[in-house]
Amino acid sequence: MQNIPQLLTGKKGLILGVANEWSLAWGIAQAAHAAGATLSLTYPNEAMQRRVLPMAAQLGANVLECDVTHDTHLAELGRYFGQPENKLDFVVHAVAFANKEELRAGITSTSREGFRTAMEVSCFSFIALAKALEGALNPNASLLTLTYEGSTKVVPNYNIMGVAKAALESATRYLAAELGPQGVRVNAISAGPINTLAARGIGGFGGMLKHHEATAPLRRLTTQADVAGAALFLLSSMGSGTTGEVLMVDTGAHILGPTVSFDTP
Ligand code: NAP
Repeated sequence: MQNIPQLLTGKKGLILGVANEWSLAWGIAQAAHAAGATLSLTYPNEAMQRRVLPMAAQLGANVLECDVTHDTHLAELGRYFGQPENKLDFVVHAVAFANKEELRAGITSTSREGFRTAMEVSCFSFIALAKALEGALNPNASLLTLTYEGSTKVVPNYNIMGVAKAALESATRYLAAELGPQGVRVNAISAGPINTLAARGIGGFGGMLKHHEATAPLRRLTTQADVAGAALFLLSSMGSGTTGEVLMVDTGAHILGPTVSFDTP
């Protein structure tokens, strides 16, 4: 990566959610590394460990196990990063999951178990992570999560994930209010649709990409680099006055009403 300002020199960061090179977390990890940070990445299971290890090696990053539904894994992160030499300056939570069949079938097809899983992995995990890392954060630490506009507007096939993202954005504000007096900032980036493994689970995602590219004010798709740039702002001292914010990084798509087109009279 070129032309990345050294905004994170001497900073230590933990990034959850690297699955492959398309992951938003990977874009953020590459940018944070280029900006001077020392990183730790996580993997949720053995299969992912095999994928994440070589990627982490590219960045000289440490690797730890963390399935966010396992309290023991979260506690181990708290113990490891609680050691004085390991304390963190930033944490990126780029983790979400919902049952694919239920997502496609519609909101009324959400089962009790599907609701619980989507909310636990996609929302509660951010709160649980903040709690687990309470004693592991350096002064002025920054926590960041990833969300999507389906939280506030109805997006076809997003269904229960929209409900979970609404809860995640609300949790971001409550965490910001509670941790603010300790100097800890908590923010979210609301990214436009980007072709990743998780996104491909959403029915009609290809059509969503085409529509976004054709209509967003910047007339292009959101990129990993767009999200990583915004993340560097929020994770570094450049964002020192911003907390509890949901920052839209979607090439402007969210400003449009349903029938707005400036191309046709
Ligand atoms: P991704 O590469 O598939 O990343 C999702 C990550 O969540 C994967 O690493 C996945 O691991 C992990 N995960 C799922 N369940 C987990 C668990 N129990 N414990 C730990 N990790 C778990 O997709 P992505 O698009 O970059 O997603 C990152 C974040 O960005 C998500 O919160 C997503 O909702 C958000 N976002 C994405 C878009 C988009 O269009 N791509 C737009 C806005 C917001 P496994 O692969 O092993 O399940």
